[in-house]
Amino acid sequence: MDTLTFYGIVLKEVLYNDNDKILTVLTANKGIISVTAKGVKSIKSKNSSAVQLFCYSEFEILKYKNQYVLKSANLKDGFYGIRDDVEKYALACYFAEITAFFATSENDETDVLRLLLNALYVVAKDENKPLWLTKAAFELKLACVCGFAPQFEYCKSCGTALGAIHSKHVFFSFAENEIICEDCVSKNGNNYGENLKKLSVSASFAIQYVINSQINRFATFKLDGINASAFCEFCEKYLIYTAERSFESLKFYYSIKKQLLKDQK
Ligand SMILES: [Zn+2]
Repeated sequence: MDTLTFYGIVLKEVLYNDNDKILTVLTANKGIISVTAKGVKSIKSKNSSAVQLFCYSEFEILKYKNQYVLKSANLKDGFYGIRDDVEKYALACYFAEITAFFATSENDETDVLRLLLNALYVVAKDENKPLWLTKAAFELKLACVCGFAPQFEYCKSCGTALGAIHSKHVFFSFAENEIICEDCVSKNGNNYGENLKKLSVSASFAIQYVINSQINRFATFKLDGINASAFCEFCEKYLIYTAERSFESLKFYYSIKKQLLKDQK
């Protein structure tokens, strides 16, 4: 039986028996792994604090055939700011679910792990960063890091660079995964199909920024007003379109937000 060491984040926990858990962990070298963690629900367990949801820990794991069994876990960061705030908690649940969906198993997922660590850090600790911006930028960057980047550099049809487009809007074709400038759409609009999303050039610059940014800089920009709404709407739609499914945790996040708005009134 080999003993392996991984650094990873707990994305999901399923309880079984009285004191045991099956953990879904995102690791750098092996991507998503499923780890059997015996006894960790017991108050006597020395590992319990390091195997909670969203914990970033060093895991010592025994590999037996194709099964990973926890030997010990050493907490590096618990992102406790997330647990004290229901909206942050709901958002982190969504981040965990979409990460578990997009990340692969038995592959190097160092970049996805770095992205999620950065995102959880911002959500837990950066009070100046609006949650909506982190949410949208994470949705888009996760898709990019997992190989599904949209093309926002130039018009698909005439090749004009985004920075050289003079009109106020561009169109994004979900079918082609590329932008088309307003001139080209007005010339031969119907050729691009139904699923075109109109976006301001300013929102498009924010999208282009996230696509090209370094992982640790994925949310370091400002946006407000109508461009912020367009950016958020695009990023969520792009993620859902790319995943070809919806996510329960996203519905949960919106139900929490709705409740919070109600409580404020
Ligand atoms: Zn064009």
